[in-house]
Amino acid sequence: MKTTPTDAAPPSDQPEGMSRRELVAGGALTAAALATSGAQRAQAEERSSVAVASANGLEAVGRAVAQMDAGISPVEAAVHGVAVVEDDPDDVTVGYGGLPNSEGVVQLDSCCMDGPTMRAGAVAALEGFRHPAQVALQVLQRTTRVLLVGEGAARFARTIGFEEENLLTEKARKIWLYWKANMSDRDDWIPGPGQTEDSDVQWFMNTYGPVRPTGTINLCAVDGNGDVGGTTTTSGLFFKIPGRVGDSPLIGAGLFVDNEVGAAGSTGRGESVIQIAGGHTVVEFMRAGKSPEAACLAALERLVQATRVPYLLDDKGRPSFNVKFYAVNKAGETGSATIWSGGRHAVCRTGSKPVHLDSAYLYERDPK
Ligand code: ASP
Repeated sequence: MKTTPTDAAPPSDQPEGMSRRELVAGGALTAAALATSGAQRAQAEERSSVAVASANGLEAVGRAVAQMDAGISPVEAAVHGVAVVEDDPDDVTVGYGGLPNSEGVVQLDSCCMDGPTMRAGAVAALEGFRHPAQVALQVLQRTTRVLLVGEGAARFARTIGFEEENLLTEKARKIWLYWKANMSDRDDWIPGPGQTEDSDVQWFMNTYGPVRPTGTINLCAVDGNGDVGGTTTTSGLFFKIPGRVGDSPLIGAGLFVDNEVGAAGSTGRGESVIQIAGGHTVVEFMRAGKSPEAACLAALERLVQATRVPYLLDDKGRPSFNVKFYAVNKAGETGSATIWSGGRHAVCRTGSKPVHLDSAYLYERDPK
């Protein structure tokens, strides 16, 4: 049987051309691991990098651009950038402190992709490791495979040396328990004394409302050479069925990168993004000549056309959920669009501070 070159080549600790991509025991990308040669730095000074992300990625895009300006590849810079959100216990949609599945277990999904090599890495339903994007990067850099799931992904992370911990914060546990107690009056759970008045529960209700919300960070990056990379990382749909995997770890859905064109990713209702291969679709619209923003809008139009089941439509036949796309092209132009108005995204360029920009949209939200 003929094997592909990829199958024939066993992984080595230092893949060819990746000598500066050091593995750091414990999983953190330290300054030492990100150090570059003087020649690379001098070259980087002349060039301009750009990163675009979901609105929760304001600090992350700044970090990613700083990394690219220091000569780090876009995919590594993206993974390093989103670590700040994965670490943040107050972002209940990503990494440590992410809201758990229906059984109270935090399961994380992530992928990353490197434009120049078109290599990708991903993990899904990963438990016990706060930086799934870094684990995904290790899948990319140290294996001949793309996607590891569940216990297999956890074993891989352990083998590599990432630190294992309980990711369920007290805040997330209280919100999950509140959800259980208020889901139905026909199960075994009822609200406990003072549960509704709890400040963390109140924060959750004020921030996300009574609907079952979602959240994620996607970050797409292009450096001054026009090389492209990106990552998406999430705790997924709040209180999901254990084992449920959304778009975020799926290459072509929650993220797609093509070094000839650019990169695109998504947040929002993952199942709908999967159904139209969202990230890939946005990139293909850019390849056909659309700007990043126009490509995001065109992909959303296709997603709306594909939304046919009544339980996903409002009384005017429009999607009752939201999806957001983010994109950057090889020339460094960025764009974003959402189904429903009111969305923002984060952008940073070399020499500028990170900013929030309004995203384009398909439908104006009805006034309340
Ligand atoms: N897309 C993520 C998922 O479906 C959630 C989100 O971005 O809100 O898991």
